[in-house]
Amino acid sequence: MIRLDNITLTFEDGDTRVTAVDHVSLTAHPGTVTGITGPSGSGKSSLLAVAATLIAADSGRLLIDDIDATRLDAAAASDLRRDAVGIVFQQSNLIPSLTALEQLQVMNELGARRSRKALARATQRAGELLDSVGLGDQVHKRPHQLSGGQRQRVNIARALMNDPSVLLVDEPTSALDQERGASIIELILRLTDDLNTSTLLVTHDLVHLPRMHAVVQMVDGRLSERVLA
Ligand code: ADP
Ligand code: MG
Repeated sequence: MIRLDNITLTFEDGDTRVTAVDHVSLTAHPGTVTGITGPSGSGKSSLLAVAATLIAADSGRLLIDDIDATRLDAAAASDLRRDAVGIVFQQSNLIPSLTALEQLQVMNELGARRSRKALARATQRAGELLDSVGLGDQVHKRPHQLSGGQRQRVNIARALMNDPSVLLVDEPTSALDQERGASIIELILRLTDDLNTSTLLVTHDLVHLPRMHAVVQMVDGRLSERVLA
C-alpha cells in the first residue's frame, strides 16, 4: 500500500518558488493500477519522485506499507526504497555494457548480502522475471541489441527484482508506437495483478486509462478525480 497524504513540494526558481505538487492526497492498494494523467509540467514526475522517497516533500506524509517514510533519515529512506519500491523511469536507464540478465543481477549487489547462495537466487529470479516479461530468450542481449519496447521490458523486470510492494512507472510508453505502448501497459497491469503491487502509472496517453482501476488527473500541481468519458 502507498499513501500520500496532503503532499506539497516546491522548487526554488530564482527569487521565487514553484509549487510542483500542491496538497495532493492519493492512496493505492495492492493489486491495483492508479493512472495519473495531466498536461506536461503539471507535477506528475515530481509526485512520483516524492512517492519513491527520492525527493523529500516540503510538507505532508508518505506511508509505504504503513511505514511513515517522511520520518526516516536518508539512509533509512534508501533502505525502504530498495526493499519496497520499484521504479521505472521514462528513459530506460539501462547500463550499456550489461546483458539483460546482468541488469537485473546488479540489483542484488546493491543489497547487503552477497553470498554465493544469494547470487544464485538472484540469477534464478532474474531469469524468471525476464521470462515473465517475454524476454526469456533474450537474456544475454545488451541494450543496443534490443528494441525500445524490449528495453522497457528489461527496465520493468529490473524494478521488480527486490519484490517491491509499490511499483512507480513514469510514462513508459512515450518512446514507443501505439501497439508496443499498449503491450507495455498490458504487461504492467498483469504484473500488478500477479505480484500484487500497489502501482502508480503516469501516462498522458488517454487510450490506456479505461484499463486502470482508478484514474486521477494533475493540473498545476493539484489533483482531481478524472471522470472517464
Ligand atoms: P510533469 O511530469 O507533469 O511534466 P514535473 O513534475 O516534471 O511535471 O514538473 C512540475 C513543475 O515543477 C514544472 O513547473 C517544472 O518546471 C518544475 N520542476 C520539476 N523538477 C524541478 C527541479 N528539479 N527544479 C526546479 N523545478 C522543477
Ligand atoms: Mg514528467
